[in-house]
Order: sequence, then structure tokens, then C-alpha cells
Amino acid sequence: MDFHTQYKEIKRLKPAGIRGIARAAVLDALAMADRAKGIGKDLGKPRVQFIYIHHVFKDEEKPLAALLKTLGETHRFIPYSEGVERVLGGNIDRAYACISSDDGLKNNVRAAEILTEHGASGCFFINPAIINAGTREEVERFCRDRIHFPLVEFMDWRDVDRLMKLGHEIGSHTMGHSDVATMGQAEFEEDCGQCIEVITRRCGGVRHFAFPYGRFVNFNDTARQTVFKAGFISCASAERGCHIPHGRPLRNDELCLRRDHVGLDWKLGHILHFLAKNARNAGISGNLFPYAQCG
Ligand SMILES: [Zn+2]
Repeated sequence: MDFHTQYKEIKRLKPAGIRGIARAAVLDALAMADRAKGIGKDLGKPRVQFIYIHHVFKDEEKPLAALLKTLGETHRFIPYSEGVERVLGGNIDRAYACISSDDGLKNNVRAAEILTEHGASGCFFINPAIINAGTREEVERFCRDRIHFPLVEFMDWRDVDRLMKLGHEIGSHTMGHSDVATMGQAEFEEDCGQCIEVITRRCGGVRHFAFPYGRFVNFNDTARQTVFKAGFISCASAERGCHIPHGRPLRNDELCLRRDHVGLDWKLGHILHFLAKNARNAGISGNLFPYAQCG
């Protein structure tokens, strides 16, 4: 199949538009202001910062390495499970970073290798239904309807094995990348159970869950609790933020992880701006799902 291998090809198919250009100009100005005042103190603030990517195309390999090198100057990379444990126990004595990646694209294997080269271990959230996808039609449909992306290749189970051999963790991102907000309760419960069954059979276990699309509108508190009842020990959103000690130990099912999406074609200054802003705005309410009472 004629899969894309360069992100610049994808970007040509999805141009930034006026809004994207305006956003980049604003971020340029903010990053310049950051440079003038210095953000090293913000970036070094004790907290756990979860970051996620989706893909590392060939032209994104060097940017990933550069990002990890820069982040490593102020953060210690820790495995995802350790990040969760540290937030739950409030054991956060310095700046920590946990990297994850969603959707299981084939080039996540390169991402895993580059993470390993930089002493970082990641958690890869996969959709079992598209691992070892059968026909081109299936892959096309998944790309178009589920991840809203041009045609790309996905990992097979051997690739997933390779990730685990490198010491990375495998998490669940639902069977087929559904928007959980559109699923019935029974359907979501069944999906969680099926994910645990399939990933456990192939990988020996699965502990972490990340909601597809991941904004707070894409799931409610009932869905969040369903994740824990199914047997996962953490659930993650895709809302920006970071985690600081709560002042008391948190139960697993109280914690709703925030993860910052990072595009590897973004300027480093823009990425650091978001992370420094998270550090400045960090509060204990960031550890909890904001709509727990009215979900
Ligand atoms: Zn996703």
C-alpha cells in the first residue's frame, strides 16, 4: 500500500489555513517573551508533565530527538506507570516527564527506538481493532472515520512486541478509536472488557487507558468510572496541564490525567511555552475530573 512516510506530505493534504498561521504568529510572540524573561524556573518546577504524540514520520525523527534532548535538561523521564504512582502518592520532588503516543501508527516503532536512545520509556495507547488490519478498505475507513488522517500504516502485533522488548508500556485507546461520548454505557463497558482481554492475551496485561479525542466533552464521569471498574489503574484525557502533589494520597479512580499534545513539526519554543504555562498554572484541581459531580 502507498502509505505516507513524510509528515510534510500529510501537511500538504491538511494545510494550516489562516487560523493556523495566526496561531503560529501569536505563539512566536509568546515564545519570544519567554526567552526574554527566561522559563527555566517554570520548567524545573516539581510536577509530573505527561506529553503525547501520535506519529514520528521520517522527517519528524530529528525533531523528536531534539525535543527529548531539550526536555531532558529540566525533566527526568520516567515510565508512565511511575508517573501515575508519583501523582497518586504525591511523591513529586522534581520535574518529571512521561511520554505517551496514541493510535498505534507503524512509525511508533521508530518513536520507541528514539525514546529508548534518550533514556525515556513511553506508553503506547493502541486500538486492537486496527492492529494487523486486514484490507486496505479497513485501514482507509479507520483513517478517515476514526483518526481523521490521510492513509497511514498501523503496527502489527510483532511491532507491539518490539515496543515491549524495548521496555515500553502498552495502553488501551478503545478497540476501534470510538468517541466514548457517543457510545452507550453497556457498549463502552463491553469495549473496555474486550480491550483488556485482547491486549492481555497479546501483551500479558494492560494497566492504562486513554480516551480517544480525549477532551472533557468526549467522556463523562460515568465513563471515567467504567474505566476503573473494568480493571484499568489510570485514565487519561487529552486536556493540557500537569500534576502536582494533592496534599493527600489519591485513589486511582480519583485521578484524571492531563496530557499535552505535542506536534513534532511545532517549534520547540512553542512547545516549551505550553509546558511552562502549565507549570505556572498548576493546581491540585488539575488532578481531578472537573465534572465529577455532574458527569
Ligand atoms: Zn487517538
